[in-house]
Amino acid sequence: MTTHALIDRFDRQIDYVRLSVTDRCDFRCVYCMAEDMTFLPRNQILSLEQLFDVGKAFVDLGVKKIRLTGGEPLVRNNVLSLVERLGALDGLKELHLTTNGAQLDKYAPALKAAGLTGVNISIDSLNEERFRQLTRTGDLTKVLRGIDAAIDAGFSRIKLNAVILKGRNDDEVLDLVDFARRKGVDISFIEEMPLGLIDEHSRALSFCSSDQLREIIETRYPLSNSHESTGGPSDYYRMVDSPIRVGFISPHSHNFCHLCNRVRVTVEGRLLLCLGNEHSVDLKEVLDQHPGDAERLQQTIRGAMAIKPERHYFELNDDEPQIVRFMNMTGG
Ligand code: SAM
Repeated sequence: MTTHALIDRFDRQIDYVRLSVTDRCDFRCVYCMAEDMTFLPRNQILSLEQLFDVGKAFVDLGVKKIRLTGGEPLVRNNVLSLVERLGALDGLKELHLTTNGAQLDKYAPALKAAGLTGVNISIDSLNEERFRQLTRTGDLTKVLRGIDAAIDAGFSRIKLNAVILKGRNDDEVLDLVDFARRKGVDISFIEEMPLGLIDEHSRALSFCSSDQLREIIETRYPLSNSHESTGGPSDYYRMVDSPIRVGFISPHSHNFCHLCNRVRVTVEGRLLLCLGNEHSVDLKEVLDQHPGDAERLQQTIRGAMAIKPERHYFELNDDEPQIVRFMNMTGG
């Protein structure tokens, strides 16, 4: 633990930051966004220089892992230069990216060379038509090429993420596990969270709990708890005949807040202390008003620890999502 470690009121050490580099995305996943989205004007978002300053401030405060996310991080112009600069920071052990994979075939080798250590790739269906329906604009073939490119590039960690909706893709859970086994990469299933108001489907009716998904998987592959923690919300399980792990991220059914080691920074420079609450601190104001003042930025971040909430409370209530910001704004 460094002397400047970020510790909150509940004695949790924050050593992981999810940094959103854009709210824009080339997909419109039905659970993540509305079909018609208005994105932020450029003057409201952090510059690449400011994003680097934020990342560096956190690393100087003891953060060991940064995940770049969005929106789709690979649609941000020149994001590679940010990866390069963050990747060179002393003290940062892991620099990861969460992506829809559509542009990975183009970027994977350069990202690896720039210092990226891991990628999470979202894939909710292996059926082309269904994939398009769920993402509204996505092309499965490109994503599959992207997954192969990430494997070829040799990242030390690659994980697939899938959000399962009842009646839409819950019949593909075993296919997705088989796909991950064939590719030799881990896969996590995420319970849909009530972030942003959507009218494409009822979140309550589509809800599939992690326990239901585990039951489906166990009809083919008995799972044993791996008792390995990656410091994240995934609960990992192993199969006897495969090196890969199956994870479950269960913000509804298995609360993991007591283990929370992370904060998020939106591309507007809002430091969000909790995924499921609105407690936040404006870092953009500090960055704009006091450019280059690393001490002030660190002080602001340290001060924010006092308002990190103990936990989130998600309810499956379609009429009123507790959190009105969409996942692309939050930094998924
Ligand atoms: N564009 C990138 C991607 O597709 O992975 C990164 C951003 S995306 C918001 C990050 C992850 O959040 C994806 O795996 C996506 O499936 C997940 N996600 C988005 N909205 C969600 C929601 N309402 N509930 C649960 N997961 C969600």
